Amino acid sequence: MKSLVTTSSSVSPALLPSADLDVARIREDFPILKQKVHGKPLVYLDNAATSQKPQAVIDSEVELYSKYFSNVHRGVHLLSQRSTDAYEKAREKVQNFLNARSSAEIIFTRGTTEGINLVAQTYGQQHVQPGDEILISEMEHHSNIVPWQMLCAQKGAILKVIPINDEGEILLDEYEKLLSERTRLVGIVHLSNALGTVNPVQQMIEMAHQRGIPVLVDGAQAVPHIPVDVQALDCDFYVFSGHKLFGPTGIGVLYGKKELLETMPPYQGGGDMILSVSFKKTEYNVLPFRFEAGTPNIAGAIALGAAIDYVQEIGLDKIATYEDKLLAYATEAMAEIPGVRLIGTARNKASVLSFLIEGVHPHDIGTILDREGIAIRAGHHCAQPVMERFGVPATARASFAFYNTLEEVDALIAGIRKVQEVFS
Ligand SMILES: *Cc1c(COP(=O)(O)O)cnc(C)c1O
Repeated sequence: MKSLVTTSSSVSPALLPSADLDVARIREDFPILKQKVHGKPLVYLDNAATSQKPQAVIDSEVELYSKYFSNVHRGVHLLSQRSTDAYEKAREKVQNFLNARSSAEIIFTRGTTEGINLVAQTYGQQHVQPGDEILISEMEHHSNIVPWQMLCAQKGAILKVIPINDEGEILLDEYEKLLSERTRLVGIVHLSNALGTVNPVQQMIEMAHQRGIPVLVDGAQAVPHIPVDVQALDCDFYVFSGHKLFGPTGIGVLYGKKELLETMPPYQGGGDMILSVSFKKTEYNVLPFRFEAGTPNIAGAIALGAAIDYVQEIGLDKIATYEDKLLAYATEAMAEIPGVRLIGTARNKASVLSFLIEGVHPHDIGTILDREGIAIRAGHHCAQPVMERFGVPATARASFAFYNTLEEVDALIAGIRKVQEVFS
């Protein structure tokens, strides 16, 4: 991680879309990328499913377990203090990354899915009554649908859905109409994993707040690709997963405004979330510990902190600019192939290219590309309702990270032509 940025440009500008992102150097940090699959160099374009890990993230776990691992918030001994310091330092890194006001607003979870379930089963249980409404969009991931369906079933509440247009954009007029005095919460994805749409979340939050309605933003896809500032957005809850941000699996984050978190009942009961326990009365701990029952994912949190350091050193503005160029290049190349149809053509898009090839099942596309060393996803992307909206059971999806290159896009395009040859 010495010189990620380069000012000299010995490589031809065409090969280096953003002159100040040294992708060749960055790729050196990702050991997994240096391999062949089926005898071909690995082209990893499945970043929306999960992303690969830089050596710094891998090292941070090795260092913890080989040098200072112990349980957190418990011991007075040195190792426990060191682990606790590192764990809490990671929380501060997340706070800084999201620009939250306080580290007490950062709850470590297992991932996006757990963060949404936590809000549904605490804030939701507390505030939703029979006949109330929860509002989500047609392009949500299953993890921003099912927890709300479960809550609605428990409470006799109603799940309402904001429709989208043929490009995969939220219909803001319809959204406005759906905001009612019965709406208790809006749940909206920041960047759609199935379509690549970047939603106007700031505007949507403002519209909800005008009616006193809180908003949860699903940022699982957004945080690896675009800078996020929860204070600027003014969202009430923001959730993401470590593993899509070049960190480990099994760790994620729920950001919540302090004034909301403070009034919410606990999620799970157990150790660490209490101040005192007796059989008569248990006193709950302060934020953020009240929502972290049991021994947390210590290694995961610390390694997530290392992942955040890594992307911040490169700079999310630079990452976003670079990936926009990759996406534009790929979109243009795809448009030139007859028989290829893009699903999701929003004006504001990032990092995701969902597509169909006429006469070929997406799973066959995935299988043939795999033989070429190219890893993409084929399926419904945990977003079956949006597949239904476009009248398809599945798509093939290429999704980019900052370590992908224009050459890899070229390999994808060549692979798609090969698929067409096989099926012609
Ligand atoms: C991946 C993803 C989720 C779920 O994340 P998990 O890590 O599986 O909990 C939710 N929403 C979006 C948009 C995603 O891409």
